Amino acid sequence: MKIVKLKKTNLFLFLEIISKEADFWAPVKKSPDKHIFEVIEDFSKINLDYTRTILPPKKIMLPSDFNMFQASNTKYTPDFSHVSKKIIFGIHPCDIHALVIMDKFYSHEYNDPYYQKARDNTLILGHSCWPDEYCMCKSTHTHVVKEGYDLFFTDLEDTYVVWIGSSRGDDLIRLKPELFDEDLTDKDIQNFSQRREERDKAFTNDINFEAMPDLMELKYQNLLWDKLGEACLACGSCTNVCPTCNCYNVEDKPILGKNCSNISRCWDSCTLENYSGVAGGENFREKRSDRLKLFYTHKLQSYISKYGKPACVGCGRCVVTCPVDINVYTVSKSLDNEEVDTFWNRLSKEVTK
Ligand code: SF4
Ligand code: SF4
Repeated sequence: MKIVKLKKTNLFLFLEIISKEADFWAPVKKSPDKHIFEVIEDFSKINLDYTRTILPPKKIMLPSDFNMFQASNTKYTPDFSHVSKKIIFGIHPCDIHALVIMDKFYSHEYNDPYYQKARDNTLILGHSCWPDEYCMCKSTHTHVVKEGYDLFFTDLEDTYVVWIGSSRGDDLIRLKPELFDEDLTDKDIQNFSQRREERDKAFTNDINFEAMPDLMELKYQNLLWDKLGEACLACGSCTNVCPTCNCYNVEDKPILGKNCSNISRCWDSCTLENYSGVAGGENFREKRSDRLKLFYTHKLQSYISKYGKPACVGCGRCVVTCPVDINVYTVSKSLDNEEVDTFWNRLSKEVTK
């Protein structure tokens, strides 16, 4: 892998040059503690001082609702209008790992052209990060990244160490090669190692993800799930914000007077009541507790059995989002018999008083 250096003062100049032929997305600050990925026209709006965005970059790859094709009795017209040339800058390692999980999911048994075309047209420019108290990526081993990006920028105060992860990334550097320096000094390498060591020490959470597949199995009938089901609002926020959640629904939207329909696709959530509904009015997971079991089986057990790692990248979004404290941290700790102070634990104590 090729590694080069870029002076921080040259970052925006480089970004402006590479953004000419593509929609350029980057994090911007929306409120004191909320960031989002947005299309950038004014580069001074980019704010890299963030931990996690409200929604992950999956919203850029596959929007929450888009048209897949138009169908009539005689004709099928695919619609790829959600696809355009894009560059996403400022993605953190956990979100890059999530994209790699998405890549696997959407190409495993069937190649999803709607995802694939969008992904092929998108360049990923990662950026280093610093954890807060909700980050769990060290436990999921997603705090460092080795694949899934075209360029990765590690912040070393006045310099970036830039990792070139693909030939497309190399092409970007070649648009303005004089901005980059190929000679990394011993001092640069020392600074890099020191930063990495300090960053690793800054994590305050530690979850035993290795134990989760067995604990999910052993505690599948545990009363914990009833407690969680009592508290869950079935709002679907956890799956919307999760960078690895990929379930979707397909809707047939008839166009009146034209004898055809638009077939659209929108994000779905396994925590919503209708998710497991079938024709005839039956529902295989009417209880909220059953739906939460499905979510956590996917995150903590089945993906590990198949791919050797959890379908959680430790981004902490479910932790900061769920209004009743049901998240991968509190559920994992509870499965591991640790006391956690949560809304749902306090609720169940109230009920049993
Ligand atoms: S677990 Fe939390 S975020 Fe998810 S559906 Fe239930 S209440 Fe909403
Ligand atoms: S389960 Fe929670 S912490 Fe894990 S990837 Fe999804 S939102 Fe992030």
